[in-house]
Amino acid sequence: MTGRIPDSFLDELVSRSDIVEIISARVPLKKAGREYKACCPFHNEKSPSFSVSAEKQFYHCFGCGAHGTVIGFLMQYEKMEFLDAVADLAQRAGLELPREAQAEREPGTADLHELMLRAARFFEQNLADNARAKGYVERRGIDAKTCAKFGLGYAPDAWEALLKRFGIQEDDRRRLLQVGLILERSGEKTSGYYDRFRDRLMFPIRDSRGRVIGFGGRVIDQGEPKYMNSPETPLFHKGRELYGLYEARQARADFKRLLIVEGYMDVVRLHQAGITYAVATLGTATTQEHLNKIFRQTHEVVFCFDGDRAGLKAAWRALENALPLAQDGRELKFMFLPEGHDPDTLIAAEGPEAFENRMKDALPLSEYLVQQLIAEVDLDHVDGRAKLKALAGPLFARMPEGIYREMLADRLASRVGMPANKLKEFFTTGDARRTANTSELRVRQRGRMSVGRGNLLTQAITLVLHHPAAAGAIADPDLLSSIDKTGVSVLKELLEQAATASSPSTAVLLERWRERLTTLAMQDPLVADTAAAAKELKMAVEKLLEEYGPGRRMDELLKKAEELGLNYEEKAELSSLLKSKGRSRAPS
Ligand SMILES: [Zn+2]
Repeated sequence: MTGRIPDSFLDELVSRSDIVEIISARVPLKKAGREYKACCPFHNEKSPSFSVSAEKQFYHCFGCGAHGTVIGFLMQYEKMEFLDAVADLAQRAGLELPREAQAEREPGTADLHELMLRAARFFEQNLADNARAKGYVERRGIDAKTCAKFGLGYAPDAWEALLKRFGIQEDDRRRLLQVGLILERSGEKTSGYYDRFRDRLMFPIRDSRGRVIGFGGRVIDQGEPKYMNSPETPLFHKGRELYGLYEARQARADFKRLLIVEGYMDVVRLHQAGITYAVATLGTATTQEHLNKIFRQTHEVVFCFDGDRAGLKAAWRALENALPLAQDGRELKFMFLPEGHDPDTLIAAEGPEAFENRMKDALPLSEYLVQQLIAEVDLDHVDGRAKLKALAGPLFARMPEGIYREMLADRLASRVGMPANKLKEFFTTGDARRTANTSELRVRQRGRMSVGRGNLLTQAITLVLHHPAAAGAIADPDLLSSIDKTGVSVLKELLEQAATASSPSTAVLLERWRERLTTLAMQDPLVADTAAAAKELKMAVEKLLEEYGPGRRMDELLKKAEELGLNYEEKAELSSLLKSKGRSRAPS
């Protein structure tokens, strides 16, 4: 998301905004020492555990873990989209939004939004006037209140109903075409336009601000296709939007989870039954963009699928998209309905309570993944393990390091009857006899060497994070590129950013690294001031270079060459190290 706005702009925005001012306008803050305290606006509490640091320009709740910068606060508290929060702060700070953001936000679309709203009202009026459509809604068990909440409507059974109403001037027709409400006739003798949605129950799709950006249309009774959506338009991008999300947020600001179902009717029925946290994707699989949006609202998501083949296939696609986002603190679950049911019919048959109980039994992502993998593989067969590796290895690699990956390894290990660390090695390193190459071997050897040494890196990162100005102590962060160790690239990039930012601060760094770094920023700052931090940081980086840098590995290989001799891979590694040393340093 942030990719669309230059980092330099965000830096300036965060440093020009006063987080204390922004938050105290919404939450009564009390000064306590160097920080400000309040009862947390994001969870229920009696004694204040929400704190705002003016110095670091971020907030943190020790109760529920909510945290972030001023941008994050607006997103969380006001339920704003990233770009809207940025625009709001920019206006306040008297900064002009970069062109990228303006184009993204308001591509001259005010009149198109207005047109969509008028179309929605037109459909609503038609539903009220049409006995057949009204009868259908009643048969589906949707009450008037729910109908109004979702703005349900009816597109008349005619070729030019909407066209005649809103497309009088050529200019109007051009705009109707732009928002996908009409289509152009093609044919030799005919010309002109006709309505896209005819004789359909209409579901307005709203964006996060409640503006109608598209429609879903469902056939009444029989017909194909069952569902039809607005096409991609300047307002509507289906890979980004979730049906029902706006309504879910209106119903409750603090829902615990979101339930993703497949159809609009399911969403409407679930909301009516009190499950007001149901949303649906718009005729696509759940994308990572969807999930990012969801995880800005809540930490738990339950995917709900039909128990048939199509449902299982859709579930697997959702799982693959979700893997890279399976981070600590997030819950991803899978729920399958009994065959022949969809949420709509099941709620009608069982009631909402039973439905929510089913949700409690939903399978955690790692368990579902293991189940599916095991079902694919015959472990008693010689090829079983190889096949398991071929299937699970790439999935495993897509997951970020953390609890989820560990859990997956543990579960899989116990099913396969292999120790978990063996299995992880099996996945990440390849079968040495067949696929050995220098870099893999090196990774493995380093892996063993570095056991128990991870804290040096964490320490260095924490120091930069809390004392960005100390980054100046490292003259050449680029030297770190020579270290082949997870996380070093983070340190290197942080050092570079802190060194180049015009006014480096914890908040500026955090905004760029929001997810990876917030946990570290919450920890003890290790030392009190920049000078001490600079000293410690220098020591940490030197130690890192000493322990893992090319020099160290070279010494090791040279020593081994003398004592035991080197194998082919080691010789290749040594020669490449010698070459790179020649490149990066002046000959001595
Ligand atoms: Zn809290």
